[in-house]
Amino acid sequence: MIIVLLGAPGTGKGTQAQFLARRFDLEAISTGDILRQEIKNGTSLGKKAEKFVTSGGLVPDDIIIDMIRGRIDGPENRSRTRTGVIFDGFPRTLSQAKALEKMLSSLGSGIDRAIYFHMPEERIIERLSGRRVCTDCGETYHVVYNPPKEVGVCGKCGGALYQREDDKPEIIRQRLQTYNRDTAPIIDYYSKKDYYLQVDAYDDIDRIKEKITRVLGG
Ligand code: AMP
Repeated sequence: MIIVLLGAPGTGKGTQAQFLARRFDLEAISTGDILRQEIKNGTSLGKKAEKFVTSGGLVPDDIIIDMIRGRIDGPENRSRTRTGVIFDGFPRTLSQAKALEKMLSSLGSGIDRAIYFHMPEERIIERLSGRRVCTDCGETYHVVYNPPKEVGVCGKCGGALYQREDDKPEIIRQRLQTYNRDTAPIIDYYSKKDYYLQVDAYDDIDRIKEKITRVLGG
């Protein structure tokens, strides 16, 4: 099963991706998480990507597409596309969307569901500014809507929670501008596909989980 999660940053894609990956035994691929890890490790990819990530822009398509190809193509990765992958934060441009289709079709596969997380912009800002992430396992929380049991501590692995640099107000504004300009147009593209599904991302987290699980046949 190949699933693509679409929508602005802060709409809960990451939380649902982690849940669905566990529920359906899928490999979750979050381009944002991969880039943050590469930047932290100071790799050449990380060095190339850093200025785009920290300024709230998009990393160039060729870098992102190569990064995804490296994770789903090649003999050691093919089993992934057979068991299933859930993409979180990719594709973000039309050319990434087309490249993904091409890659999947060359692997004899295709998208089963593209799920769009719809949310009004003022809610998105509220969500992003209250988001906290686990330093160790990447689990995401929200100080109001999805708080950890113990303040500042990950309920899953016990790691310390932190606020992402790009979840600070100046960068949030830039990320939303980037989203509206470059990523929103792909929603139109996917909405014409028969595998497209829109969810109200401001709904209760558990209700969203149930709705998607039902649609995916779980
Ligand atoms: P995210 O964690 O998905 O919000 O991504 C954090 C940052 O990583 C974004 O603001 C972009 O700078 C970069 N990024 C993540 N995914 C992509 C992508 N598919 N294309 C271009 N840039 C990306």
